[in-house]
Amino acid sequence: MTGRPAEPRKVLIGLIGAGIQKSLSPAMHEAEAAHHGLRLHYQLIDLDRAKSSTSDLPTLLAAARIMGFAGLNVTYPCKQAVIALLDELSDEARAMGAVNTVVVQPDGRLVGHNTDGSGWARGFTRALPQADLGVVVLLGAGGAGAAIAHAVLRLGAGALRVVDQDPARAEQLAAELNRWHQGARATASVDAASALEGATGLIHATPTGMDKLPGLPLEPGLLRPSLWVSEVVYFPLETALLQAARAAGCAVADGGGMAVGQAVGAFELFTGCSPDARRMEAHFRALVGR
Ligand code: NAD
Repeated sequence: MTGRPAEPRKVLIGLIGAGIQKSLSPAMHEAEAAHHGLRLHYQLIDLDRAKSSTSDLPTLLAAARIMGFAGLNVTYPCKQAVIALLDELSDEARAMGAVNTVVVQPDGRLVGHNTDGSGWARGFTRALPQADLGVVVLLGAGGAGAAIAHAVLRLGAGALRVVDQDPARAEQLAAELNRWHQGARATASVDAASALEGATGLIHATPTGMDKLPGLPLEPGLLRPSLWVSEVVYFPLETALLQAARAAGCAVADGGGMAVGQAVGAFELFTGCSPDARRMEAHFRALVGR
């Protein structure tokens, strides 16, 4: 006698944030889940649409627990606010002081992770496996920049020079990095020009170059063939900085690698399945190109 085929495992996850209607996360997670025989639904929980705010986070987390969510991604403006509501943090999330992935454990405990930095590292090492990490410049000391800074030091960067239009932010991030990583390798620089002297690579982590903020974050004359450039902006994928860097002969990595990499890490945490990173990246690029 043949039994009925087993029901696919159902997985419920979501994203809490403001202005997230264009997120590609639902498509990326749901398509990858289908390859693993999972029925995964990825719910957008848009604070703007719901006319709500971070003050609703306790309610949203309680609801996720009750409704059997496996986990939640968390983005602006909730990455710090969510921390006080969690039972446990991964080392990475604690170091960054920010959470982008919350896993609901079977006993209901909420564990915060951060896959932004490891996601950047995943994309970066795939795109530029030979990159010289001797002296790295980070432009932009905000949320994305901080996550990447921890990751690049973990990858073994010899020196990291942090630049921000707000010098206090650069100073604060450099000091914080040196508390977590050995060798006092992080310093704050006053401007991109001085920071790039003798540098081997540039990581761009400001919003300049996004569709809504077009332009270049630095003087293109500072780019030279010996410098690799890693871009964080991915709307659009081909930014003015990447175009200028290619024209200057730099090896480049676009912002898609981090976008996919953070999703790869989150998918693994939510489902316990190992995603196919290449397949997710191909899907992401097809979605962006559409
Ligand atoms: P944020 O506002 O937290 O930080 C941006 C920082 O850049 C600020 O400290 C600001 O002072 C600084 N800055 C802005 N313009 C500058 C300039 N011209 N020179 C020097 N410093 C400058 O923003 P964020 O959350 O870190 O996001 C930054 C960018 O990264 C956004 O475009 C975002 O979309 C992108 N991002 C991409 C990914 C990805 O997966 N690829 C993930 C997260 C964020």
